[in-house]
Formats: sequence, structure tokens, C-alpha cells
Amino acid sequence: MDDEFNKVVEFHGHVCPGLAIGYRVAKYIKGHCDKSEDEELVAIVENNSCSVDAIQQMLSCTFGKGNLIFKDYGKQVFTFYCRGDSKALRIYFKGEMPKRMGELQEKRSKNQLTGEEQKELEGLRQSYIQYILNANDDELLSIRSVNLPEPEKARIYPTLTCEECKEGFMEIKGRTACGKVICMDCFETLVDKCN
Ligand SMILES: [Zn+2]
Ligand SMILES: [Zn+2]
Repeated sequence: MDDEFNKVVEFHGHVCPGLAIGYRVAKYIKGHCDKSEDEELVAIVENNSCSVDAIQQMLSCTFGKGNLIFKDYGKQVFTFYCRGDSKALRIYFKGEMPKRMGELQEKRSKNQLTGEEQKELEGLRQSYIQYILNANDDELLSIRSVNLPEPEKARIYPTLTCEECKEGFMEIKGRTACGKVICMDCFETLVDKCN
């Protein structure tokens, strides 16, 4: 494990296959898209699991800056848009987990692992992580360039004051219920009362 990976582990809190996946994807992008500073690079991620933490830590694509876009598709797909370039890179992680590892993980989720199997799973997991960290790019990543309309920049909206809780909220997130303009929090609790 190199220094760069150690930093990602520190950020994420543990070592796992998902984190290794994100690390390989981010590393590839670092070498192939030189505008990885700040707002220039936009990542569109199709899952919200461990891998995305590596994308955030290594490429500085974060929710706060608006250059991390989440699509809830449950896929290990990551698309990167370098602002200024007309093309985006779409990366699909195609590395396969050992079959036996999948079986044991399923058993674990049902609390059916014996002590022996627990050890076996841990061993498989470690070697799978090593595999992800060391295999060639073309063995792990399916990469193609795609045309993508430029993602919108983070926009700033005016703040309104909720007529119910008196807290400020972003204008476009407002709702009306009970004849008042209110925030989402209040809408969730008031909507049933007024209808
Ligand atoms: Zn993890
Ligand atoms: Zn409110």
C-alpha cells in the first residue's frame, strides 16, 4: 500500500474492496485529466458506497463544492467531466469478486458463518483488495469517452424565511401548505394536517 492509499484509508476509516476500487478509478483520472484542481473536475458517481470516498479524498470532488453528482443507480460507474474539455470519461469497474467470497458474504449477512469460514472470508477479502490495488488498468477498468452536456455549476438561490419554523431555507426548496410558504421540514409534518 502506498502513501496515497494510506491517506484514503485514513479518510474513509477502514480498508475495504470498495475503497480500493475508488482509489484505482481516482488514480487513473489523476493521470488522464490534469484539471483535477478544485472546481474544474466534476465527478458523476452511480453509487454512494465506499468507493466514492476515494473519489472525494483524491480528486477533491465534494458535495460542498458541487462537483460531486450522485445518481442512485447502484453501479460502480464513475464519469468525469473536465470543465473546458468537450468530452467526459466514463469508467466502469469490471473487476470480479471471487465467487467464493460472494457466497461467504451472503452467509455472513445471515449470521451463518462458522469460525473457519470467517477466516476464509477474511483471507479472500485481503487478496481481493491486493488484486484491485495491483492489477493493470485494462483488467479492472472499462473506460470510454462520452459526450456529455456540461454539468451545471452550483447555483446560489435567495433565502426565504419559513412561515412555520421561522428558519431560513433555499427558495427553490420551498413548499406551500396550510396557505403558508414553508420549508421541507415543516412540509413533511404539516402536509397531512391541512389536507
Ligand atoms: Zn469501506
Ligand atoms: Zn419550517
